[in-house]
Amino acid sequence: MDLSSFRRRSSPSPSPDSGSARRGFLPAPARRFGLGAMRLNHILASTLLVLPLLATISVFYPRDGARRPPDRAAGFAEARVLDGRALSGNATPLVSDDTDSSSPPVDLPKNDLLGGLLAAEFNKQSCLSRFQSAIYQKISPHKPSSFLVSKLREYEKLHKRCGPYTQSYNETLANINSGKAIGSTDCKYIVWISFSGLGNRILTLASAFLYALLTNRVLLVDRGKDMADLFCEPFPEKSWLLPTDFPLVNQFQSFGQNSPNCHGNMLKKNIINTSTNTLPAYLYLHLAHDYGDHDKLFFCDEEQTVLAKVPWLVLKTDNYFVPSLFLMSSFDEELSKLFPDKETVFHHLGRYLFHPTNRVWGLITRYYQAYLAKADEKIGIQVRVFEEGNGPFPHVMDQILACTLKEKLLPEVDEKGFISSPPENQKLKAVLLTSLSSGYSEKLKDMYWEYPTVNGDLVGIYQPSHEEYQQTERQLHNQKAWAEMYLLSMSDVLVTSSWSTFGYVAQGLGGLKPWILYKPDNRTAPNPPCRRAMSMEPCFHAPPFYDCKAKAGTDTGALVPHVRHCEDMSWGLKVVSGHDEL
Ligand code: GDP
Repeated sequence: MDLSSFRRRSSPSPSPDSGSARRGFLPAPARRFGLGAMRLNHILASTLLVLPLLATISVFYPRDGARRPPDRAAGFAEARVLDGRALSGNATPLVSDDTDSSSPPVDLPKNDLLGGLLAAEFNKQSCLSRFQSAIYQKISPHKPSSFLVSKLREYEKLHKRCGPYTQSYNETLANINSGKAIGSTDCKYIVWISFSGLGNRILTLASAFLYALLTNRVLLVDRGKDMADLFCEPFPEKSWLLPTDFPLVNQFQSFGQNSPNCHGNMLKKNIINTSTNTLPAYLYLHLAHDYGDHDKLFFCDEEQTVLAKVPWLVLKTDNYFVPSLFLMSSFDEELSKLFPDKETVFHHLGRYLFHPTNRVWGLITRYYQAYLAKADEKIGIQVRVFEEGNGPFPHVMDQILACTLKEKLLPEVDEKGFISSPPENQKLKAVLLTSLSSGYSEKLKDMYWEYPTVNGDLVGIYQPSHEEYQQTERQLHNQKAWAEMYLLSMSDVLVTSSWSTFGYVAQGLGGLKPWILYKPDNRTAPNPPCRRAMSMEPCFHAPPFYDCKAKAGTDTGALVPHVRHCEDMSWGLKVVSGHDEL
């Protein structure tokens, strides 16, 4: 089939708006759930009657789950039609005690704590996503190990004891003011500096948290411009945000490889070594993509024994460095117990740590309900182009089509046909396409509007935003980016772009092995256009190639079966479960 007209045409013809395109028919899932016009009228009418009554009741009832009246009468059992998944009868009612009164009450399934991953002791109103995500997300087939669950509960206790402004925190802070590590401290910390694009930040924060778990440190998060607007607090009672009066906070931006307290720099200048007794109160770890050989010694076991004595580690990185932790004998055994299924590291830690704030959750749930919920299949396509100039680029469009059609993720269109009679099992497919440019989705939308599909399926194309260029410092821009990563993670199948941490976040949260679009070379669509990922883990883009014991270079992607080179970056490393074909 010649799809060149869709690849080359630049001005899109008027295309059906996502809403209006579907108005003319009642999709199969809607029929299945009986959402006929009469039923909707009925729901609306009963809602109008019942809502004032509920509002009155809620005034008289304290905000205590055990004593709340069930609110299912409100008629908004919208959660039960989401994703075509009926909630089971063992759902427990969750009254919307949200301060944001626009959030409808929902039923909370028993899986709400993600198989024990999440702590129960949270205020529901402050972070609806923590309690509602289980309704929207598919139940993960990957269960967290009991060792991971108990490690998380232990960490939460540690965080409560050592978090901001606790006695231990205040005492350990005194070390920084004195300039050197004074004796052993009750609590030790790793401070994560907000750095780089949002996808990078999410991955590095998960890496820092894993390092904190492995070394019994407390993770504190530099709030940067917008961390607090994007993520709920993940730990009960004590904030994970670094207090704004932390003494080094104004130096974070200037920290670099040559900073006096930079670990690599101090090693290079021989100021510290494994037998140094007087260590500084803090060390700055430079693990960004431009790090040098001395900085990379962080990944050597003997350096970890030095680092273990320093109360404050301050970390700047734009890399998901987890794969290299798997190559260290200090952590090897514990990592195996934490993650018996090795490729689930980000899947579990990501779902544990990253809960969208109510503002972002609103972006996610409104979009999901309006455009995606009723589809039989949801296909996420993440388009990230690392090329000079403004897209859309024809070779990228060619590649998207070649991949999705070849892998049968999307149906072919019949260019000679006008109307296809709907087959018995006609499917409604919703494509969620994310990109900085609107061009790719416009072209796909045209294609599926102008021609019927050969198998009679209907295809809707939806793109939440087209921000044109990266605007890391703009709050709403990052909220939309986070919402889109999350929406992609709710797909049934996913196509991602090479090298993009944005896509890695989506695949990891969703527990999906995506089809990865190879990086185009010379403005030409690669052949083959894409391949299936061997694991859902993100790729470490700048790993060290050093054998610490032999003190010589080595191929770190060939040392153990569960750390391999990435599909999309030949020098990168990623964790795989080991049972897949490599
Ligand atoms: P990476 O550069 O692809 O690894 O991903 P990052 O998330 O670290 O940085 C890219 C940034 O560009 C994102 O955080 C967004 O700010 C922006 N961006 C890139 N692609 C998209 C997109 O499809 N949608 C939105 N809303 N923003 C995007």
